[in-house]
Amino acid sequence: MERVALVTGGTRGIGAAISRALKAAGCRVVASYAGNDAAARAFAEETGIAVLRFDAGDYDACEIAVAEITKGHGPIAVLVNNAGITRDTTLARMTREMWDTVIATNLTSCFNLCKLTFDAMRAQKFGRVINISSINGQAGQYGQVNYSAAKAGMIGFTKALAQEGARHGITVNAIAPGYIDTEMVRAVPEEALQKVIAKIPVGRLGEAAEIARGVVFLAAEEAGFITGATLTMNGGQYMT
Ligand code: NDP
Repeated sequence: MERVALVTGGTRGIGAAISRALKAAGCRVVASYAGNDAAARAFAEETGIAVLRFDAGDYDACEIAVAEITKGHGPIAVLVNNAGITRDTTLARMTREMWDTVIATNLTSCFNLCKLTFDAMRAQKFGRVINISSINGQAGQYGQVNYSAAKAGMIGFTKALAQEGARHGITVNAIAPGYIDTEMVRAVPEEALQKVIAKIPVGRLGEAAEIARGVVFLAAEEAGFITGATLTMNGGQYMT
């Protein structure tokens, strides 16, 4: 059966790999994005995947988007909360705006979209929520109190909502990727990046497609007994 999947931030980086993999697994995918129209257009042309621009951190914008997706494609059954940003600096230098934007985009977006799709998943007696957290939410990271808090928050959110969804065929899981070869990571200065790679036992950055593989695994019908879990995918860098 063709399930409708929404992948936030699904037009670039890890999200784009997730969108492609879910499509290959038989889902009808909608990939959202924030503002990079050119990248979204190129992605849509190349993959045939529908794209939709809205701010996942803005509840009203999410409400309009979910209504549009439901009308155009059907009720959402698979939700991948992947949209994420960083605004790194030490607490001493961090502004309130840097805190608020990172919490809104990474964490409040999960509330917004789960809240707006949960009833439809209950009605389908099937739902798969997969929240893309981070190794830095598990281990903490210097210069990232905002991002580490948001990503750790996603793990708590996952465990709590998993309990609410369990009786309704809805599973809620998180994936905590380590350092993956995307634009977000390529923005890290080369010297700092080499230091990161030196700490990864497998000796390399991860590939977006490797994270997508975890999402497809958790999204499958057969994964109904896995809920509230955090799948750590980091090349052995941090073992929980
Ligand atoms: P990218 O920066 O490559 O892509 C981010 C995507 O999110 C883009 O499609 C972007 O849209 C979209 N986006 C950003 N803000 C919003 C918003 N407010 N509303 C909707 N969409 C938004 O990120 P990555 O692929 O590197 O990261 C994906 C996820 O994985 C993030 O949650 C990140 O925190 C997490 N992660 C990444 C790791 C890594 O090593 N890369 C490691 C651990 C976790 P647009 O194209 O319009 O800008």
